[in-house]
Amino acid sequence: MKADRIHNFNAGPAALPLPVLEEIQESFLNFAGSGMSITEVSHRSKWFDDVINDAVVRAKRILKLDDRYHVLFVQGGASMQFCMIPMNLLGAGDTADYVNTGTWSTKAIKEAEIQGKAIRVVASSEDRNFSYIPEGIAFNPNAVYAHITSNNTIKGTQWAQFPDTSGVPIVSDMSSDIFSRPLDVEKFGMIYAGAQKNMGPAGVCMVIIREDLLGRSPKDIPTMLRYSTFAEKNSMFNTPPCFSVYTVQLVLKWLEETIGGLDKMAALNRKKADLLYDYMDQSEFYRGTAEKNSRSLMNVTFRLPSEDLEKTFVAEALENGLGGLKGHRSVGGCRASIYNPTPLASVEALLDFMKTFERKNG
Ligand SMILES: *Cc1c(COP(=O)(O)O)cnc(C)c1O
Repeated sequence: MKADRIHNFNAGPAALPLPVLEEIQESFLNFAGSGMSITEVSHRSKWFDDVINDAVVRAKRILKLDDRYHVLFVQGGASMQFCMIPMNLLGAGDTADYVNTGTWSTKAIKEAEIQGKAIRVVASSEDRNFSYIPEGIAFNPNAVYAHITSNNTIKGTQWAQFPDTSGVPIVSDMSSDIFSRPLDVEKFGMIYAGAQKNMGPAGVCMVIIREDLLGRSPKDIPTMLRYSTFAEKNSMFNTPPCFSVYTVQLVLKWLEETIGGLDKMAALNRKKADLLYDYMDQSEFYRGTAEKNSRSLMNVTFRLPSEDLEKTFVAEALENGLGGLKGHRSVGGCRASIYNPTPLASVEALLDFMKTFERKNG
């Protein structure tokens, strides 16, 4: 069974660490001596309390978050946050800045506009098909927050450094690069991430929000859409997605205890991405689509000389045990998603395949 597993380069839901999957499998029928599956225990039980509390403690420790930050688990994916953020943070007369770096930023902007909020798009990389991260942006010092997408899953770009916002708190969609590198958390008022890229199964979004932003929600927001509801009840105002939270807990434990923390994780991620980019840079056959200084260490997007070759590449890769290499349907081409859980060995296998494919078809 284990031998049948492929090298998984899916963009999301994506690969999870094998030791985590094995631990889930082993404890699935009898979780922590409860005599029940994790999918059967009450979310009001001590068993689940231990899970969610440990997940929060680990997230805070890994990111070095102080007590001003709350770690919440919210349903509705990262997409729900696109509407919850302006709904909770922007009252009458408030304004926020948005940077548009691709598909997900565009959606975040749209959800603020639907609500008639006074937001301003302060920079966009749409002029060059979202192939780069804008620099030298003039943020409004009176904005309540500055929204960015730290890693652009579809376009294959990533903020290498976070922008200077003159003290305006950054709100960042980190769905596809949370926990992939150390952060200067001071700059952030809020970080959110759908779990299914870098830390777990679909069904839960981690929201890290600072006390001062938490207190902004207008009175007329529905209970389930208010951040304070989740903060006051340790994300258990209603039944949380228990299994997803449990898996996130195990992935964070793996990150701390097996990988050894964020510095080690970042070094490994850099090594994996460099293997692919260095090869592409000396090849005339593969062409990276992101500008060099904006390249994502998580989603490596590239083209081959023709769309026919791209189709053959994806199909032959799968025959060779390498899955998920097709680019997003909106952009075409190829994409290797190499999130935290993707082992170095998978990237090495992909590199070997790319070399062989180029020799045969180049
Ligand atoms: C996948 C993704 C989303 C959407 O996540 P859902 O959980 O499906 O809503 C949003 N932002 C980024 C950067 C993503 O990669």
